[in-house]
Amino acid sequence: MHMQLDCPHCAHRAMPAAIKALTSPWQVRECRRCACRIGVPWWGHVLTVLPMMLVLLFGLVTQDGWWLPIGLAIAFVAYFMLRLVAVPLVSREPDGQRRF
Ligand SMILES: [Zn+2]
Repeated sequence: MHMQLDCPHCAHRAMPAAIKALTSPWQVRECRRCACRIGVPWWGHVLTVLPMMLVLLFGLVTQDGWWLPIGLAIAFVAYFMLRLVAVPLVSREPDGQRRF
């Protein structure tokens, strides 16, 4: 499984996996190698909360919730896994260019 942790500017590993998993679309991080401002795209956030939304939706529709805690636990894991492997790091520099 390839985790997308590469900086869009310098192509080196920009941050540890745990930091990326906790990065929200409205947060800006600095690449630890080139110090460029980077973040995660909004569509990535939508993608990662999708499993959670589906589980809650099915819970509401079926009104039968014995599996709901299990479903939520799986969705919670999927949330972090999708953040790490499916969502790329993108530039948060105003012009998309390197600072240095
Ligand atoms: Zn970098």
